[in-house]
Amino acid sequence: MNRFNGKVVLVTGAASGIGAACVQRLYDEGASVALADINPQLIDEVASRFTDTERVFGAALDVSSPEQTTAFVAAVQKKFGQLNGLINCAGIKGVGSVLDADIEDWKNVMAVNLDGTFLMCQAFARAVRDDQTSRAIVNISSGAGILGVPNRMPYVASKFGVSGITRTMGAELGPYGIRVNAIAPGMVRTPFTAYMFNDPEKAKRIRAAHAIGREGEPEEIAAVAAFLLTDDASFMTGAVVSVDGGQTACIASV
Ligand code: NAP
Repeated sequence: MNRFNGKVVLVTGAASGIGAACVQRLYDEGASVALADINPQLIDEVASRFTDTERVFGAALDVSSPEQTTAFVAAVQKKFGQLNGLINCAGIKGVGSVLDADIEDWKNVMAVNLDGTFLMCQAFARAVRDDQTSRAIVNISSGAGILGVPNRMPYVASKFGVSGITRTMGAELGPYGIRVNAIAPGMVRTPFTAYMFNDPEKAKRIRAAHAIGREGEPEEIAAVAAFLLTDDASFMTGAVVSVDGGQTACIASV
């Protein structure tokens, strides 16, 4: 498929896991892709894997910085002359309960996961609001943006925030023709979750928590993200789509 020929898509958290899988999928389908991640070495390394260098632009970026997000979107628009899509994958873990969560950790998680998603969406929407081409945003929320998860208080708060602003932006940006949806992944095997899968007992429990009996692969999230950017999803906006092997489909019977 070449659904993204002539299209330009920005991806944050692009050096690892789900973000890297999104970059690969979009590139393989013909897009020009702007990759951003916090780690400059890693972003250079990932960008150098692609042979058509004209279609790949890598930049180090802290998504929690209003100046950096605005500058990155402007630089991509200048380089490629247009912007069609944005996938917000940058994210960090946030552990702690209401009793013991540290407020500085809380602020850091909110800054990256929620502020970062908001700032990228804002910069993108401001840049393309009056364009006449197709434009769409995909935010990566989480099952923790749909259901509570004990001892993940900062992460849950940030991901409920991502789900909430996605719905709100769907309404606000609909009149501009900009669609905004989120994906709520189940457990996906990436560097983010490696520490859990390294524990065989934990890995077994994770698999049992998914209706289809296994964790997801980054490519399975990237496939849905790519779909949400295309006109096949032209009637979808403000949706939070579970891509989770049934993890959040039902409450366990007692
Ligand atoms: P990942 O492999 O750790 O990738 C996330 C990337 O974002 C990393 O390269 C990370 O860099 C980068 N990043 C961190 N802070 C940043 C910042 N301030 N600015 C720019 N980039 C930053 O994680 P993943 O599993 O692919 O997760 C991607 C997204 O999916 C996250 O939002 C996560 O919350 C969400 N999600 C993941 C799962 C899962 O099971 N994997 C499930 C539900 C939702 P560092 O490695 O240096 O921190």
